Amino acid sequence: MIRLSESITSLKGVGPKKSFLLHRLDIFTLEDALNHFPRDYEEIKAVKPIEAVADGEMASVCAVFADSSRKKRTKDLVVTYVKACDDTGQAECVWFNQPYRASLYKPDVPYFIRGKAVRKGKSLQLQNPSIEAFDPKIHKLDRLLPVYPLTRGLTQNDLRNLVHGILSSVESGYSDPFDKLAVEEYGLISKANAYKLIHFPDSINSVHMARKRLIFDEFFAMLVSIGYQRKVIRSGFIGKRISADHSLVADFLNGLPFKLTVSQQKALADIFADLSGGKIMNRLIQGDVGSGKTVIAAAAMCAAAASGHQSAMMVPTEILARQHMRTMSRMFDKTDIRLSLLTGRMSNADKALVKRSIAEGTTNIVIGTHAILQRDVVFKDLALVITDEQHRFGVMQRMLLRSKSENTMPHFLVMSATPIPRTLAQIMHGDLDVSILDGKPPGRVPVKTHLITSSLRDRLYNFIRNRALAGEQAYIVCQQIENGSDGIKSAEELYAELVKTHLKGIETGLIHGRLKPEEKEEIMEAFVNGRIRVLVATTVIEVGVNVPNATIIAIENAERFGLAQLHQLRGRVGRGDKPSYCILISDARDEMAKDRLMALVKSNDGFELAEKDLLLRGPGDLYGTRQHGLPQFAIAHPLMDKDMLGCAQGAAKLVLDRADQADYKKIIEICLEKYNKLAALPD
Ligand code: ADP
Ligand code: MG
Repeated sequence: MIRLSESITSLKGVGPKKSFLLHRLDIFTLEDALNHFPRDYEEIKAVKPIEAVADGEMASVCAVFADSSRKKRTKDLVVTYVKACDDTGQAECVWFNQPYRASLYKPDVPYFIRGKAVRKGKSLQLQNPSIEAFDPKIHKLDRLLPVYPLTRGLTQNDLRNLVHGILSSVESGYSDPFDKLAVEEYGLISKANAYKLIHFPDSINSVHMARKRLIFDEFFAMLVSIGYQRKVIRSGFIGKRISADHSLVADFLNGLPFKLTVSQQKALADIFADLSGGKIMNRLIQGDVGSGKTVIAAAAMCAAAASGHQSAMMVPTEILARQHMRTMSRMFDKTDIRLSLLTGRMSNADKALVKRSIAEGTTNIVIGTHAILQRDVVFKDLALVITDEQHRFGVMQRMLLRSKSENTMPHFLVMSATPIPRTLAQIMHGDLDVSILDGKPPGRVPVKTHLITSSLRDRLYNFIRNRALAGEQAYIVCQQIENGSDGIKSAEELYAELVKTHLKGIETGLIHGRLKPEEKEEIMEAFVNGRIRVLVATTVIEVGVNVPNATIIAIENAERFGLAQLHQLRGRVGRGDKPSYCILISDARDEMAKDRLMALVKSNDGFELAEKDLLLRGPGDLYGTRQHGLPQFAIAHPLMDKDMLGCAQGAAKLVLDRADQADYKKIIEICLEKYNKLAALPD
């Protein structure tokens, strides 16, 4: 019986040097090696008679080498020729700068020879052929050989041999815990067979069969563990009762300077129903950028405070934490509700003070970054946790917070502006109920998006100058902080250039991730107050930043950003009632890149764009895969493999419904372990 969890160093031929290289490919165990899937296949044809070889083809023949060879030397080249023949004719094998080939092969022994065929009249050359001992069982058939992603120092043959070696013991001695279900209930092939066929398929059709099984396994493990945790959360714990029926909440809502939109009201009604129901809320508010999520969070926290409990709101960046702190302090300034800010970059003394007030219960609402998750942050009475733009906040992080609230579990509200295609939402938020904010607050004018080349930059910056003089504000986004190179404008360079030229005399600021938190805060505040008119920035302003007076966002080297990311950036404008513009600057000629940017020009619909993004980029390098909280799939694609997703959903439900039977319980445990390995922990 082979144990796939065993280290690759247990294999013959894998010493410290090779294992070091394999580690670079994330291959540590036998299973990792099997899960290092080919990125492509090389087609190797069965051997054919030499007389039948056509000019220009990659030809495979079975032949014996002649006893003699010849060499030709030029200034920097040694060419080695060795003749080989079969019953039908002869071919001359030619190698460049490999003189050792002349004496490498035994005479009278048949070899498998594969190289590029060049016919000149009657004579045939095979250039740079690869040679193997002839084996009729293998070489008389067409084959597909795996082509793996490599790292320097490892060759295709190294990996082929490694995987081949593991597979030969898998074939005789491995049965997979999901086999019974997958094979018997869903008609898929066994895991051992799937591994064999994905690496060494006999046809493209067997690659499909192998993929189906492997994709099933990936989806299945994830869906089972998410589903199981949802079940535990729903049955094992209670949530604190929070009533919205309180004058504090009514005053808060009446005091807002605007009327809630219909979908905001609906979302809030969903939340209040959850909070007062005795169960634990697990809700996602999904609304495109600018749809007005912050006020919903504030209302929910207001209800928690009115019922005497604490809430925490977690956001991904320092800038956003401070912005929410400002906005909410204003919203609550006529109440007794006390708010505190807790971020990683605060001084230890400040942090200690805040932690004390959290522990003593004198703070009602904590707004902060991941710092809130630290073990020494202990709440007196935490009843509600809200995450904003923070999709990586998964089940594990929730479990961390649970420990701070004894036998109850806080309610969870997840707010997301990254529009997630519906199929993905099923996967990621399988454990959440969803409220959707569709439509924006009234009076918004859709943002106009234009794609320009850098030759129009002068006109653009004059336009920005004029709008700034007219009292509006603008963002200019660069991809890099410093050291721009070949055509890439860095934020520092552009800032230095603009303050001397187009924006001379206009209050202009520079903000990026490397500034100290106080500096960032100061600059953001100046922009919010309008003292800074134009802000040259990196993507630190990407999510959540809300300055309604900003009407222009110009994005340099737009082709370097993902589609979903550009949509987020565009969401920084169009938050007030003035016409807004998003100007994408790009000289990209590559069709893919242009396609992506034109999609943005044509559509303002975040869902549509996110789906397109995912299709264009694939899940592996999907922008913000980590931010989305999506597990990294090795082979499955959540949009392209919808059938297998459906299939795995059925299987997951079947297993969860029978969680009380030992067999199925074991499967659930395996899934939990697999999935937890995939889930990201906070930094
Ligand atoms: P997001 O959903 O992107 O987080 P915000 O919560 O930052 O959006 O809201 C964007 C802007 O819209 C804010 O200035 C907010 O005050 C305003 N807003 C929210 N709801 C309404 C409403 N119902 N009517 C008018 N303005 C609103
Ligand atoms: Mg927001």
